[in-house]
Amino acid sequence: MGLSKTIWTNPTEYLRNVQPENPVLFFAPSVLQTTARRFIDGFPGMVTYAVKSNPEEAVIENLVAAGLRGFDVASPFEMRLIRRLAPDAALHYNNPVRSRAEIGVAVELGVKSYSIDSASELAKLIELVPAEGTEITVRFKLPVAGAAYNFGAKFGATAELAVDLLKSVADAGFIPSITFHPGTQCTEPAAWESYIRVAAEIARDAGVTIARLNVGGGFPSHRLAAVAPDLEAIFATIDRVASEAFGEQRPILICEPGRGLVGDAFSVASCVKAVRDDTHVFLTDGVYGSLTELPMIGVIDRTEVLTATGEKRQGETANRIVFGPTCDSVDRLPGELALDAGISEGDFLIFHGMGAYSTVTNTRFNGFGELAMATVLSLKL
Ligand SMILES: *Cc1c(COP(=O)(O)O)cnc(C)c1O
Repeated sequence: MGLSKTIWTNPTEYLRNVQPENPVLFFAPSVLQTTARRFIDGFPGMVTYAVKSNPEEAVIENLVAAGLRGFDVASPFEMRLIRRLAPDAALHYNNPVRSRAEIGVAVELGVKSYSIDSASELAKLIELVPAEGTEITVRFKLPVAGAAYNFGAKFGATAELAVDLLKSVADAGFIPSITFHPGTQCTEPAAWESYIRVAAEIARDAGVTIARLNVGGGFPSHRLAAVAPDLEAIFATIDRVASEAFGEQRPILICEPGRGLVGDAFSVASCVKAVRDDTHVFLTDGVYGSLTELPMIGVIDRTEVLTATGEKRQGETANRIVFGPTCDSVDRLPGELALDAGISEGDFLIFHGMGAYSTVTNTRFNGFGELAMATVLSLKL
């Protein structure tokens, strides 16, 4: 993806002047920096970034400039990317399943923090990673609600297994810690509360004082106009419950947001290729493009429509079925979208809050998926 050197005032200026045929992701570094500051100032501990949500170099560089010093990485590619862009940053290798070759790369790159959720993966680390000064974080899961989808379906030990794993970590001479992930786009502070209380029980049952508690990602971005994410309420709950649950043994807290940090820093514009029968809108972007996530975690209703000449359409809305450009019938956004009733061929449809899981999950299926990226001072149209 080419990042143009020009900085545009806002998406409207770009769209009016460039008339792009392919979808364009607009990146506002100022929004990313403001959100990063909101986390760094508000979260009661260390803020790290989950690289998988958006590994664009401009994103990493802006986060480093804002003061981030730690990254959650899941693969050799992500580890090398961060080592190159932020050589002194901490790498937290929190993908709980790794090949021996991947562990070898991590050791070579000086990774000092790993998470696990099974005895077999712990055994691999004990065999391959020098224990001295290295943290192993036990990841557990709970059946709690509040997120757009549940991360516990793939990773996380039960609380009982976590007790055994934590003892084994401490016995093997590693620094013992605990982590969990409440599930992405989690708007409920109560989810963190349940997890932190159980984390304290796990440490108590294992008879282990943990060094750090990583409360995961899952922090929400702004997807629905009517639901502004209340990060400060989540931070306050985490802070209060960590003290209540751990008392004197309160560990250092870490968070590793992806979406919550980067989501609101991007908007994506696609062009309307056709409007058929007054009901079906065909876009140059779809679920095989940057909108991959929408069928899984729900639609974003923070949309706007611009005419080709950059006028905002602000009339009555009508419900439309929206399709992407490929010939696959799965390439359809979930439900119907309330769009300006006048939406026409050649217009631009802008989705806000598109920074996470958009650039990285874009495919070239059917020959589509060429994305441009443009830097803007503001995302306001
Ligand atoms: C994906 C992931 C994150 C980031 O999740 P968000 O919902 O984007 O904040 C954090 N930690 C781990 C271990 C992950 O796999």
